[in-house]
Amino acid sequence: MGAPPQLTPEQRSAALLKAAASRKRRAEVKNRIKSSELTIDHVLELAQNDEAVAKMRVRELLEALSGVGKVRANALMEKLNISATRRIAGLGRHQIKELRNEFMKTTHAARPGKLLVLSGPGGVGKSTVASQLRKSGDFWVSVSATTRASRSNELNGIDYYFISDEEFDRRIKHDEFLEWAEFAGNRYGTPSAEVQDALNRGENVLLEIEIDGAKQVKSHLPAAVLVFLEPPSWEELVARLEGRGTDGPDRRAHRLQLAQEELAAASFFDHVIVNDSVERVVAQLVSLAS
Ligand code: 5GP
Repeated sequence: MGAPPQLTPEQRSAALLKAAASRKRRAEVKNRIKSSELTIDHVLELAQNDEAVAKMRVRELLEALSGVGKVRANALMEKLNISATRRIAGLGRHQIKELRNEFMKTTHAARPGKLLVLSGPGGVGKSTVASQLRKSGDFWVSVSATTRASRSNELNGIDYYFISDEEFDRRIKHDEFLEWAEFAGNRYGTPSAEVQDALNRGENVLLEIEIDGAKQVKSHLPAAVLVFLEPPSWEELVARLEGRGTDGPDRRAHRLQLAQEELAAASFFDHVIVNDSVERVVAQLVSLAS
């Protein structure tokens, strides 16, 4: 083996920064696996486009899964002939298939899953409800593509697929969205194939999207159940939007104006639920899908 390449100090510090960012991303992904927000399927999918996730060791992935300790992780790796230090990127096609089979829900019924669309004014708490539902395991929650820049607490491929305007155009042209809409100057779209696959697997699917998109879904898939989440009061919604540290004042003002228009759309929806308690909303959505 030849001598390692000589790096300039700049190259070295850039490499260190990149390695630190990758470690941080892996730690975040592992936390989300531990809290059951991400399934093994989701992580294997993410690893295809995400270098940091691709470099996660298979052992770490397995041990982060709920109900899989060191012993079961070892046994599984032995059974599937996966070496102790193997990274996700190094898994063979057959090993990936076997891993998926190991963790596939056995409860999938022959019927396709139900599609629930959760909408409502910005700031009403849709994303909190969606993340609770993802954790509960009762729903497969779709990850949208957006042209919006990511916020500091967001992860590509988990909160959204953050894509360029050109890529968004390409996906529209190739009919890859079940629906898409513009909201507050950015575009957002639901990947059609992923949703369809999940429904075919028998999973109940939740889309957390704005109102125009919800209407589009209903026109393509009339069996979709549209749920409008309402704030307990307008004052509460204003307080929540004003309190958002992630948006600047102009953006907050724009979102308030949009929220006012959005509230008027409730009558189009199959169900209106007041978000006075996240647990209650989650329970109602679960019962709508059963
Ligand atoms: P935010 O930028 O705050 O994450 O989202 C802005 C709005 O876009 C929210 O109302 C959210 O529900 C909506 N949204 C997120 N993903 C999609 C999507 O795929 N399609 C549509 N139509 N709206 C979306």
